[in-house]
Amino acid sequence: MKKRITVLSGDGIGPEIVAEAVKVLDRVGDVYGHTFEYTYVDIGGCSIDKYGVPITDEGMQACLSSDSVLLGAVGGPKWDDCPAEIRPEKALLAVRKQLGLFANLRPTKLFPQLAGASPLKCRIIGEGIDLVIVRELTGGIYFGEKKTEEKDGELTATDVMTYSEHEIERIGRVAFETAMKRGRRLASVDKANILDTSRLWRRTMHMLREQYPEVEYSDILVDNAAMKLIKDPTRFDVIVTENMFGDILSDEASMLTGSIGMMPSASLSSGTRGMYEPIHGSAPDIAGKNIANPTGTVLSAAMMLRYSFGMEKEADAVENAVAKAIDEGFRTQDIMAAGKDDGCRLVSCTEMGDIFAERI
Ligand code: NAD
Repeated sequence: MKKRITVLSGDGIGPEIVAEAVKVLDRVGDVYGHTFEYTYVDIGGCSIDKYGVPITDEGMQACLSSDSVLLGAVGGPKWDDCPAEIRPEKALLAVRKQLGLFANLRPTKLFPQLAGASPLKCRIIGEGIDLVIVRELTGGIYFGEKKTEEKDGELTATDVMTYSEHEIERIGRVAFETAMKRGRRLASVDKANILDTSRLWRRTMHMLREQYPEVEYSDILVDNAAMKLIKDPTRFDVIVTENMFGDILSDEASMLTGSIGMMPSASLSSGTRGMYEPIHGSAPDIAGKNIANPTGTVLSAAMMLRYSFGMEKEADAVENAVAKAIDEGFRTQDIMAAGKDDGCRLVSCTEMGDIFAERI
């Protein structure tokens, strides 16, 4: 098969980790007889520096005309004071909106070998953590009307949160379908005791629940969910929630796995095109040092193979290669603490990419 991928490396460690994912994809291509063609497009701070905007129209067009998009990360202190309209994250929101990427899947899996890197005690981790957060990505407060105005001699800021039934229903369906392919347990997270949007969310989920009787469904308030993720993370299989709650809960969940550098994500549309990216940011504190963990980006590439290209065995091969490398004791510095005492080997970002590729 031949597939065209738009590569948005971005800022900070973005180009370093994306290069390793491309290395792994090329290896998959060699082994399984596929051709991946890459179009590199500047996004975020590097695009602001070159063109004055976080993504150009041509760049956006490249995303729209390719089979899928691979992203590193955007942003950094250099661009923190940019005006709101041209901030690096604006490009991400624009790509998500233009590509219709309404569903964000964030698997959170603790490799048993990395249990020591998790901040949780072994008795809480139990047999291991393995959950998926399905986050609504193009609605809610991040996309609602925003304004800052002067009222009675002081500034007042407003962010509007809106959800319509069809937005809730389509993300709910993705969540129920995801649960059907996994452990058939779904927790829907909202704040239905306070928010109207959450009451509509809950009502819509309850309608969907009727169509998926095999799925064990529960409602949980967001504050309670935040506690349960720490106290009892193994109770979760699939969690579905709105945009902002999902943003916060998925970062919380990622820390249970020891390092944010391990976690992939997929942003999906109603078609096959998606955008795949690690959940972390551009990590300016470690950029340019060749010490970043490329695992989250490599696993995001595996999700691209599975969800956008329908390449199941190729995706399995990438995930198995990652698991094998971890099992053999290869560690980037962020996950090294887990294996300090048992002969694990510290490797750089590029070495970790080589090790993954060799094991495909
Ligand atoms: P961050 O995720 O970049 O970094 C948080 C911490 O995790 C840092 O100590 C960093 O070194 C570490 N870390 C992150 N990824 C790692 C990896 N792959 N390997 C090893 N360690 C890793 O979050 P931040 O510091 O809050 O944000 C930095 C910049 O990234 C900001 O400008 C922020 O706006 C941006 N950001 C971008 C995205 C995105 O592009 N999707 C997401 C979040 C933050």
